[in-house]
Amino acid sequence: MCAQKAGKGPGVLWSVFNNKCPRCRQGDLYLQKNPYKLKTTTKMPETCPVCGQKFELEPGFWFGTGYVSYAFAVMLTGITFVIWWFTIGISIRDNSIFWWLGANGVVLVLLQPVIQRWSRSAWISFFVRYERPVADSETEA
Ligand SMILES: [Zn+2]
Repeated sequence: MCAQKAGKGPGVLWSVFNNKCPRCRQGDLYLQKNPYKLKTTTKMPETCPVCGQKFELEPGFWFGTGYVSYAFAVMLTGITFVIWWFTIGISIRDNSIFWWLGANGVVLVLLQPVIQRWSRSAWISFFVRYERPVADSETEA
């Protein structure tokens, strides 16, 4: 929170959904690009390969991602509800709402690795501010 260089860079949402370091928004948060390699889904380097930002800020830091993950799950549930409503339709006269519940459960389970990563990414961006990386041309002179 001390001397920071404010400036334009990639947006915070872009950074969260692309799993980028919250400080430089360039380095990858995860070692493996593919979240569906389940053994390495949440494997992260200790520090950012680009700016050196430490990722696990304190022991048990990632505990709070549970809340973020819950928020993402609620958001996705809202999205599947709206999609179901407009495509298949939801009525109290048939079982459509139960089909939606089942389908939503499947979607949430299938997206779990992605949600896990977004949750960590969002969580760390609550604590680490963006600092525009210093370009090479600025360090010379
Ligand atoms: Zn970084």
